[in-house]
Amino acid sequence: MSAEAHDDLLAYDREHVWHPYTSMTDPVLTRLVTGADGVHLLLADGREVVDGMSSWWSAIHGYRHPALDEALRAQAADFAHVMFGGLTHEPAVRLARRLVDITPAGLDHVFFADSGSVSVEVALKMALQHQRGVGRPERTRMLTVRGGYHGDTFGAMSVCDPVGGMHSMFADVLPQQVFADRPPSSPDDVPAWESGFRELAKRHAHELAGVIVEPVLQGAGGMHVYDAACLRVMREVADQHGLLLVLDEIATGFGRTGTLFAAEAAGITPDVMCVGKALTGGYLTLAAVLCTSEVARGLSASESGVLMHGPTYMGNPLACSVALANLDLLESLGWESSVARIGTGLRSGLAPLRRLSGVADVRTIGAVGVVELDHAVDVDKATEAALDVDVWLRPFRNLVYTMPPYVSTDEDVARICAGIEAAVAVG
Ligand SMILES: *Cc1c(COP(=O)(O)O)cnc(C)c1O
Repeated sequence: MSAEAHDDLLAYDREHVWHPYTSMTDPVLTRLVTGADGVHLLLADGREVVDGMSSWWSAIHGYRHPALDEALRAQAADFAHVMFGGLTHEPAVRLARRLVDITPAGLDHVFFADSGSVSVEVALKMALQHQRGVGRPERTRMLTVRGGYHGDTFGAMSVCDPVGGMHSMFADVLPQQVFADRPPSSPDDVPAWESGFRELAKRHAHELAGVIVEPVLQGAGGMHVYDAACLRVMREVADQHGLLLVLDEIATGFGRTGTLFAAEAAGITPDVMCVGKALTGGYLTLAAVLCTSEVARGLSASESGVLMHGPTYMGNPLACSVALANLDLLESLGWESSVARIGTGLRSGLAPLRRLSGVADVRTIGAVGVVELDHAVDVDKATEAALDVDVWLRPFRNLVYTMPPYVSTDEDVARICAGIEAAVAVG
């Protein structure tokens, strides 16, 4: 690409194209990608950098994977999309069966949504419709915990952290949910948290439809890891008060935290579960909501008799086909040993950063590494410092973090750690 074409694209981008959480009047610095292969992103200035973000948890097998490329090509040669109302197709049915097989036992029904946020909306709708179906229409609120992130649509926003999320701006239009304290990471702190959670649930039970949380690892709300025992408490409390337990596994699903689904770390089965992000290996937007037969029966007994949702691109065949190939790879490449190996590399690579000034905490879980600073990161400076050592990172708030593609070598992981160190040093 000529320097002129490059500058022209970036200039138009700056003037006309929104990026996530940005302003049109004060746009952030963006960099032009001209290719991506394996764990590498190729930037227009010729730099080839290791992607420490897996394109936000998604590209677990890296870019341009031949098996994923081929799945897309083969499906495109058959048909790219057909409406899902009154029609079905092999990729959707096979993917549904696959998801039912690999998720915790009892989750037997699948709703395909076109993004994580939409899947959260559907899960919330399931909870409300279920309560109507079982004769408790007054139960319309959700119980959740502080520090969560569930997406950017209005229902999803309402269960995001009330301080770090967008509650203050949208207070008048957001459903008012019930917030418990953030679940603790230390087992010593679980009893105190548990009694508070139980008390809150009891006090609000008459108006609650369900509990929604990210299991074990809270992602974009602050990369906080908590004790799996808290999930068992939530399961018990939900059963005790007739609440549906909704687990948002959009970030944690497909091995990222060391178990195929984070719920497994607690040995519990939710009533409703959302998956997304890594579902298609970073190729196309697709999410799914799974629920138990009890939930499916309950919501079908509500006055409409049906689940009131149906996106235009529901069950998109290209996305379902690439998701199937992605799940094949997950199994055949042995995600467990990759995640464990990357975790080991992150632990040893990041531990020395604890001693750096400005570092408040270093934590890892599965193939996720987090360095928490005692101040807000200068995102542009930190990003550039990591790029200078050929690593792509996207810090936020006071967090410099990574979730590498599962195909990252030990060398790639060491490089990512060097990138994090460079980012921390200037950020
Ligand atoms: C990313 C994310 C979402 C939202 O998914 P989108 O596809 O971005 O709409 C919801 N919940 C969690 C836990 C996430 O990490």
